[in-house]
Amino acid sequence: MKITFIFYLIFCFNFSAMAFTLNNSEAITFAQDEVSVNVARGNCSHIGMNESEILRIVADAVDQYWNRVPTSRLKLRAGSVLDLSTTDYSNGSICLSGTACEPNPDLAVSNGVLITCNHLAANFSSSGVLAVTVPNNISGKTIIGSLIMINDQSANPFVSKSRDEKIAIIAHELGHSFGLGHSKVTDSLMYYSTVKMRTSLGYDDFRGITYLYPKEQPITCGTIQDQSLGPNNLLLNWLGLLIGLFIMIFLNYQLRYLKLRPRF
Ligand SMILES: [Zn+2]
Repeated sequence: MKITFIFYLIFCFNFSAMAFTLNNSEAITFAQDEVSVNVARGNCSHIGMNESEILRIVADAVDQYWNRVPTSRLKLRAGSVLDLSTTDYSNGSICLSGTACEPNPDLAVSNGVLITCNHLAANFSSSGVLAVTVPNNISGKTIIGSLIMINDQSANPFVSKSRDEKIAIIAHELGHSFGLGHSKVTDSLMYYSTVKMRTSLGYDDFRGITYLYPKEQPITCGTIQDQSLGPNNLLLNWLGLLIGLFIMIFLNYQLRYLKLRPRF
C-alpha cells in the first residue's frame, strides 16, 4: 500500500516531464494484462546457453525489473520452449528492406513475446549490437506478438556478458517488446546502451510502463475527464480520493492510540 501510494503520487506529479519514448509514434500495447515470453527451439549456436537457460534468465528479468512496478497492470511470464521449425527465425530478416523497419510478416509472432537467436548480419546494424526487438504483429494499436532476436553471430558480444548483464539485456529488450522506445535518462534500463552493474529499473522506466499499462488506482491525479465517460465520473473520483484519505488518517490515529507504529 505504502509503496503503491508513493509511486502513484510520483507518477502523478511528474507526468508532464516524461523522458521515455515509445516504439511507435503512438502508444501500442498488448491488450491482455499477462503476456507470455517464449523461446524458439534450436536456433542458438554462439551465445553459450540453451533455451532453458534463456527462459530462466527471462524469469529473473521479469521478477527483477518489469513485474516490480506497482502502478503497472502488465505482468510478464516466462513461458516455454516452442518448436517453430517451419519458420527460420535463426536467419530471417526482422524487417523488410527499406529505411524504416517494416516488420517481416514471415516472422510474425502469433501471441505474446518470442525470443530467438539469429545470425543474419543485416539484423544488427553493427557487431556491437546485442539484440534487436520489433513488435512484429500489430492490429491497430494492439500488439499481438513481438520478436526478440539475440545476436548469435560467431563473434557476438552477448556471449561474454555476465549473467546479471544478460538479465538486464533481456529485460531491456522486453521493454521494447511491450511498447517502449529508448529513454534519454542514462540510469534507465531503456537507455540505448547497457549500463554496467545495473540491477533495477530507473525512475523513467517506471513512468514508461505505467504510461502504457496504467493500473487502476483508488485515487486520481490532475487529469481532465472526457465528458463522454459520464458527467459523474470526476465527482466519484474525488469522492474516492476523500474517502481514501479519511480512511488513512483514521487508521493512523487508531494505530497511534493502540501505541502501534503507523503503517502509512
Ligand atoms: Zn534498445
